[in-house]
Amino acid sequence: MFDESVFPSEIVPQPGPFEAWIKGSASAAAATGVTSAASAAASASTFKLYAYTEDRFGNNVGMEDAQLRVDYYERGHLISTWVRTVPSSGILNVPCVGYAEQVGWGSVKDNFEYDRSRITFRFHEFNENDTTPPPSYYDGGDDEIVFRGYYDRPWVSAHEFTHGLHEEALGGIWSTSNCNPHYTDSVSSYSCAMSEGLADYGGDIGSPDDRFGWETWSKVKRDDGAPAEIEGNVAAALWDLIDDNNEGDDDTSLEANDVMTVIRTCRTPNSQMNSVPDFIWCLEGEVDDDAHDDHFPGISAPSSVRVTRPSNWNEDDIRSTWLKSMGNN
Ligand SMILES: [Zn+2]
Repeated sequence: MFDESVFPSEIVPQPGPFEAWIKGSASAAAATGVTSAASAAASASTFKLYAYTEDRFGNNVGMEDAQLRVDYYERGHLISTWVRTVPSSGILNVPCVGYAEQVGWGSVKDNFEYDRSRITFRFHEFNENDTTPPPSYYDGGDDEIVFRGYYDRPWVSAHEFTHGLHEEALGGIWSTSNCNPHYTDSVSSYSCAMSEGLADYGGDIGSPDDRFGWETWSKVKRDDGAPAEIEGNVAAALWDLIDDNNEGDDDTSLEANDVMTVIRTCRTPNSQMNSVPDFIWCLEGEVDDDAHDDHFPGISAPSSVRVTRPSNWNEDDIRSTWLKSMGNN
């Protein structure tokens, strides 16, 4: 018994058992424990799935307590599984991350001109009605993205992927302090702001339609920290260092690949680069102690830096650009 009339008019229902191939991705969904289901594209990164049972047919398309499982396949191999309880409405927004991967992850790799091996991801269940859902994150130990809150936003997907690119291709993620939780406009630490600012920049590269406006970001200044300890300021500085637009004190249009190579190769006598001032002095090619004290209070300047960078960069222009978003003035 399959009656199309119970579905909204904009969708094209199909009788179960459910299997849908989403245009532009390599993901398939299969429902278990649900008698019949139908799908419809809801947005670029999700599709709606309607599930119902025959015995409740006619009054309620939902099937309470039924578990819906969506399996994601790539080239015939199961790569991730997503499990949800079907709500009484019978309507679920199912993430279609294969799409986000194709659109968002690819453009991050193209912009950075750095590549990495296939990254895995999984969905971690949480209460969809939670007003502050737990954040998605990249797990460096397992090299996988764990999607929770805002899993259906391409920006989140591109942000987490950038962490994964950093880990495998840009020298490895460093340890951060005061980073959990962290927010784009709040003081965290020099290490957290650098790591998350890079991922925030990658988020905008991967998600043109759903993003922060780093090119028009106004520098956040707070009494409890330096501007360089705020990740949004770092993301805005990366944007201005790289983008073709030179407005105000933005004097640079560096190649993104060269900037990423600075992140990958920067070394100080004590360690691999792990914070904003390390990045800045590697970007400039040498340490300026006076400028360090002015703009990076509370942390010692490295005695020297070692880095791979183009020899024709203009240090004055670079200084002007990063001061615009991260300088303590
Ligand atoms: Zn992050």
